Amino acid sequence: MTNSVVTRFAPSPTGFLHIGGARTALFNWLYARKLGGKMLLRIEDTDRERSTKEAIDAILDGLKWLELDWDGDVIYQFSRAARHREVAEGLLAAGRAYYCYATPAELTAMREKARAEGRTRLYDGMWRDRDPATAPSDVKPTIRLKAPQTGETVIEDQVQGRVVWQNENLDDLVLLRGDGTPTYMLAVVVDDHDMGVTHIIRGDDHLINAARQKQIYDALEWELPSMSHIPLIHGPDGSKLSKRHGALGVDAYRALGYLPAALRNYLVRLGWSHGDQEIFSTEEMIDAFDLSGIGRSAARFDFAKLENLNGHYIRQSDDQSLVTQFERVLDYVPEGAALKAKLNDTTRAQLLRAMPSLKERAKTLIELIAGAYFIFADRPLELDPKAAALLTPDTRALIGRLRTALEAVNDWTAENTETAMRNFAEQNNLKLGAVAQPLRVALTGRTTSPGIFDVLAVLGRQECLARLADQAV
Ligand code: GLU
Repeated sequence: MTNSVVTRFAPSPTGFLHIGGARTALFNWLYARKLGGKMLLRIEDTDRERSTKEAIDAILDGLKWLELDWDGDVIYQFSRAARHREVAEGLLAAGRAYYCYATPAELTAMREKARAEGRTRLYDGMWRDRDPATAPSDVKPTIRLKAPQTGETVIEDQVQGRVVWQNENLDDLVLLRGDGTPTYMLAVVVDDHDMGVTHIIRGDDHLINAARQKQIYDALEWELPSMSHIPLIHGPDGSKLSKRHGALGVDAYRALGYLPAALRNYLVRLGWSHGDQEIFSTEEMIDAFDLSGIGRSAARFDFAKLENLNGHYIRQSDDQSLVTQFERVLDYVPEGAALKAKLNDTTRAQLLRAMPSLKERAKTLIELIAGAYFIFADRPLELDPKAAALLTPDTRALIGRLRTALEAVNDWTAENTETAMRNFAEQNNLKLGAVAQPLRVALTGRTTSPGIFDVLAVLGRQECLARLADQAV
């Protein structure tokens, strides 16, 4: 039976794919993959004013970047409006829904009265049992659900446990508006049913909707899918997640230099746990994922943890794939275009050679880019102030002599350049550091850089000798 699991990710395209949405998508994806089922993607674009093409593109792009693939075609909720209408009319015909002719003024008065009396049920049922023959001719009616007025609506949530609402507090929901457009609540139920969704996994901001949706399921005599409402992600201090604390779009995480695998790993642990395991390969995640591992309390977003995890993934990645990631991220960072223009076979090879040492120091691809600056620096190098201060006439003369010594190295291996440098230092009665620092300045334009022997090896003989010549007298 396990192959019948169908989950769905159902974002509203009113903004970017934010981090909470990405986690919801991941959980749905993992659950479907674990059980050999399907994850469907439904774009909830019924709010025509707020839905945009840019947001749809950002969502699809974000999912692709995170490598969360969905099964089948993307389903656009708006395109199913006729079907939603048909279901509302079916409920009407079955006596499970009714036309409501209340005017906006009447509804406002009802709402105010309910609020003044401290009731959460806002609609007073004025058209529930009224004969439509008495309807005003100038009001286009809505269709409302004839919801139960007594008893309870109960959801056995896989995360929240048993959640109970008193029906007397719930309104007769509008299913179809006066202009014939379906409401969101109806659309979700009809789509989930028609798409064969067996498991709904979403943020717990939708828990109250679950009660309303359950009433629609009951009226339609459709089976309610399994429900899991995941606690939202909070900021590190427990407050609502703010931008500063990570409430960003997935595209922002890409631009900050995080790897998709690291972000997935970080997200899976935001609200779900499996013993005390922190690092999960994709296969391990799929294997271990279960609804019972989702916690009931809000997860807290922790940038430092994400960064450390990302550093781990960078160190684990093979050098060639990091070169690829490096190139990819250039499309999303300010300095990217300039660096891209300098990518060629030589710089790519240099980057690959530099990767073993660069990746030890970088927690993000941005730090990797920063560490690789010396590869892409134009000759003659622009020196930073500290470096410039170090280049006195004496050190320039030293660089000239050192260049001559290095020029004698034909087989430009790390070992040979190191030997040449050590010999040079000895012959000149200098400590290695006194030679390395001017060399570093001449080769990188800065007083800090990756290990000097790495720099020598990465740049290669020709480029090193040329940079030394630029600074020598
Ligand atoms: N469209 C809703 C959202 O983006 C999700 C609805 C659902 O998962 O049922 O929050």
